Formats: sequence, C-alpha cells, structure tokens
Amino acid sequence: NTSIASDFIREIISEDLKTHKVTEVVTRFPPEPNGYLHIGHAKSICINFEIAKEFNGKTNLRFDDTNPLKEDAEYVKAIQEDIKWLGFEWDGLFFASDYFEEMYQRAVLLIKNGKAYVDDQSADEIRQARGTLTEPGQNSPCRTRSVEENLDLFKRMRHGEFKDGEKVLRAKIDMASPNINLRDPVLYRISHATHHNTGDQWCIYPMYAFAHPLEDAIEGVSHSLCTLEFRDQRPLYDWVIRECEMPHVPHQYEFSRLSLTDTVMSKRLFRQLVEEKTVDGWDDPRMPTISGLRRRGFTPESIRAFVRELGITLGGGDVDYRMLEYFIREDLKLKVPRAMGVIRPLKVVITNYPEDQVEMLPAEVNSEVPEMGMKEIPFSREIYIEQEDFMENPPPKYFRLFPGNEVRLKNAYFIKCNDVVKDEDGNVVELHCTYDPETKSGSGFTGRKVKGTIHWVDAKRAIPAEFRLYEALLTPDEGDGRELIDRVNPHSLQVEHGYIEPDLQMAQPQDKFQFFRHGYFNVDPKDTTPDHKVFNLIVALKSSFQI
Ligand code: ATP
Ligand code: MG
Ligand code: MG
Repeated sequence: NTSIASDFIREIISEDLKTHKVTEVVTRFPPEPNGYLHIGHAKSICINFEIAKEFNGKTNLRFDDTNPLKEDAEYVKAIQEDIKWLGFEWDGLFFASDYFEEMYQRAVLLIKNGKAYVDDQSADEIRQARGTLTEPGQNSPCRTRSVEENLDLFKRMRHGEFKDGEKVLRAKIDMASPNINLRDPVLYRISHATHHNTGDQWCIYPMYAFAHPLEDAIEGVSHSLCTLEFRDQRPLYDWVIRECEMPHVPHQYEFSRLSLTDTVMSKRLFRQLVEEKTVDGWDDPRMPTISGLRRRGFTPESIRAFVRELGITLGGGDVDYRMLEYFIREDLKLKVPRAMGVIRPLKVVITNYPEDQVEMLPAEVNSEVPEMGMKEIPFSREIYIEQEDFMENPPPKYFRLFPGNEVRLKNAYFIKCNDVVKDEDGNVVELHCTYDPETKSGSGFTGRKVKGTIHWVDAKRAIPAEFRLYEALLTPDEGDGRELIDRVNPHSLQVEHGYIEPDLQMAQPQDKFQFFRHGYFNVDPKDTTPDHKVFNLIVALKSSFQI
C-alpha cells in the first residue's frame, strides 16, 4: 500500500500551489559530508523526495559543505550511493561551496547596508555577551564600526591577514531580541583549513545559519524542510533572505526528527566507534547507518515503508526499533527463499539408516509462495540438529528431542532418541537415534503424531557457515549520565559456526534467506568468500510488536 496520509506539510504545499504562492515545488536534501547517512537521514530523504514527486516537483541533492575541518570526499561518494540505493534520483547535484563567492558578495551587501560588522571579540567573549533567556545581551564594542572599516576588515579577513578566531563577521540585528538566534549571530568565521572542494581558495567560511537560506534561495527551493531544532532559527532564515535581497524567497518548515530506541543518531558516536575499531566500519551491521542497515540485510522498500508509517509530525519520542524490524519482516516474508541452517550444531547418527545411502527429499522453497517452486535436500545417516533442540532432562511441555522421545525432522522422517554420547566433561557431543521409514514427509503417514518439528542439515553435505547474531548496539540509558561510548553493548555481536543446506553454495553477497525457526539472514558482502559464507541476522522470525 503506497497511499500516503496527508500531513501539515503536504497541506501547506497544496495551499501554496492553489494560491499561486509557488508555481513549482522544489525541495532539497542537504547533508553535510562529514559522515555516513543514518536512518534519521533516510526519513528526511524520503520526505523530501516523495513530496516533490507527488507534486510534480524537483528534489536536489546539495552538499552543505561549509565546514572544511570535518568534511571529506569519501562521505560525498557514500552519501550519493546511499540515496540511490534507497531508490531516489536527484534533479540537481550541488555543493554549497560552489556559492562561496556569491555568499561573500551578499555579506558585503549586508555590510554596505549597515546590517553586518566585523567583531574582534573571541568566541568566548561573544558567548558571554549574548545574554540569557531572561537577560538581554551586551553590544560588542565593535558594533559601531563604520561601513568603510567593516568593508576593509572583511576583505582583509578574506585575504588571510588574520588568524583563526581573531575576527568574525556578525549580523547587526538586536542584542535584546527574545530570540537569542537574533542577537547578532556570527555569519563568517576564519578557518585556515583545506576544503575538500575549494582547496585553499578560502580562509573564511560562512556559518550554517547564513549559508543555508542563501543556498536554498540560489537553487530556487520552494519548501525547505528541516528538523525541529531549527525552528528558532526560522526568523533568522527569513532575515537573511530579506536583507541579502535574494530574488527568490524560500520558506522553511520543520518536522520532528527520528530517534529510535536502543540506538542513537549521532555521527560523533559512530565516528568514535569506527576510529576505535569497536565496530567494523561505518557499515557495520550494528550501526543504524544506511550502509550498516544495507549490510545487515534491510531493503530500501522496508525503510521507505517504515518512514511512510512514521508520517510527518511535530511531536513523538523515540520510535520503537521493533517497528523498523516489523517492516523488514513484512518485506521479506514472501520474497525470499526459506532454508535450513543449523547455528549451534549437534551431531545425530541415525543408527538404522543404511551407511552409504543418500536420498534427495523434496522441499518447498517458500511454503507461503507455491510459485517459488520446489527443491531437493539430501538426507543420510548423519545429520546436524540445533543443540537447543535436545535436552537430556527436559522440563514439562518440552516437545523437542530427549531420550526416548520422537520428533519430526522437517521435510524428512520421525526420529527417536535412544542414546546420548558425552565427552569427558559430561557435555553431550552426539545423539544416537533411529528413524521410521513409514513416516516420510509427504507420504500421508497418519499412524501416530509427534508434537515437535525440528530442522537439520545433512552432516556430510552441509556447508560450514558463520552466523553473526546481533543485539542492540547500546544498552539502555539508566539516566546515570554515562557517555554514549560507555553504553555500547558488549554482546551486540555474537559469532557462531554452524552449517547450511548444500544448495546455498550458490548464495551471493546480499542474498537473503529465511532460516527455518531462526529468522531472516543476509549474506555478508564484505567478509563472505567462495569458501567461507557469512550470514548476518537481519531480524528474528517473531516479535510481540504490533503496528
Ligand atoms: P551533524 O549535526 O553531525 O552534522 P546532522 O544529523 O545534522 O549531523 P546533516 O548532514 O546536517 O546531519 O543532515 C542532513 C539533513 O538530514 C538535515 O536536513 C537534517 O535535518 C536531516 N536529519 C538529520 N538527522 C535526522 C533525523 N534523526 N531525523 C530526521 N531528519 C534528520
Ligand atoms: Mg548538520
Ligand atoms: Mg545536526
């Protein structure tokens, strides 16, 4: 179902078109290339691209690259890949840094009109003098500089005559404004750093609050959609557009940002985890980055459906991570083959099965989708079952294997456990069972019933596989002020070595399967080789979560 409920932003846009306030809807996704995109960005991407499409408009991808210190071409490339993978195509591809000259000229215009001044105060002094919610700020001693002096100083800032932090350009608005964002915000700072796009051409860089509205105006953006923390900046956004005399007037609208339980959307934390090698890169399957979710096995369809269900709102706290899981389960359920995989193997010898015999047993590829057809799986005297499908001393209502009990092997026969083989330490290492040839699956046998069905693989022909099982990246916030990095869950990754059905030999990176009774798995694209298959747990089969 792709129909979309209306929301306040869609209503505003409909109204703007109806009243001819705008003639064309133009949105943009404006990432700063200082890290990889995460699921929060996916929300913003889906909203911007889907809304524009619905109204026959356009969406640009614009790199908001106005901070040379943290940005890198690696991120520029990764961000483009992630957006394409999510299924979107941008109209224009822009870099804010391409507008540095125009931004500079607009700042000169502000100075000429007496709307901006060069300040010699340090960042600390400026912060001190800014005042509080209840107290007005203090005017800077530099606030009364003449237009000529400001023009000269600003030009000299550009030409590198001053060190980092020695001077800034500030808007001259109102140091007593109830909105602290309007208390002469900084528009330009000095930074002698090499920029990923403009190299050493510039040593002054515009601040976000000045640059962003100009970028929107230059590109003809009609509706500039951003997250709620920018709401208080909206008056400044409008001030910049007006005072810089931009011919096109964009408007900013805010919606609530996405946060998820069990994890955080923090590039800072992600970078720290990557640099300390706590995780295997930005695309580690535990990371809520788009590349991490992709490697984990999430699909673009599942992420888009999740964002659609979230809608656009102004409120709401953390979204339950299980809601995202619900959508991947729904997406894969009827799409992917089902197979048997044994994660923690226990060998079973079927003592009455002929030594050299192998038979091929028919099995459905996906029992809910008959069109996916049938396959054959080998069965012989030695198989592996799951360790947890056997208990020597079972509690009541345990229907799996225990001494004297009979269970059904999925797609095969009933087997009964007769003997338990243990090692010196008393660990169960092998079971001896017998099978009943009468009970073959599909034979119509009704002679007796068993309560448990377990999965298995043929021991000789199964392929060894590594299974990576995941838990939440972070342990719950106990409200004790611990740093994020100290909340990283030490059990977030568990590695197991088991076996898979032989026909999965053909599985390619990013292929997905449902392993019977376990969950959905993705073939890891980084660590899988032809001789070593690695399966990432995407999501377990069941959850109590309801939409
Ligand atoms: P940082 O503050 O580290 O730069 P950021 O999350 O602000 O990170 P940007 O690249 O500046 O990252 O964000 C690009 C766009 O994505 C912005 O429009 C921002 O509002 C939006 N965005 C970022 N995080 C979320 C989120 N959690 N939910 C919805 N939108 C988000
Ligand atoms: Mg940012
Ligand atoms: Mg931010």
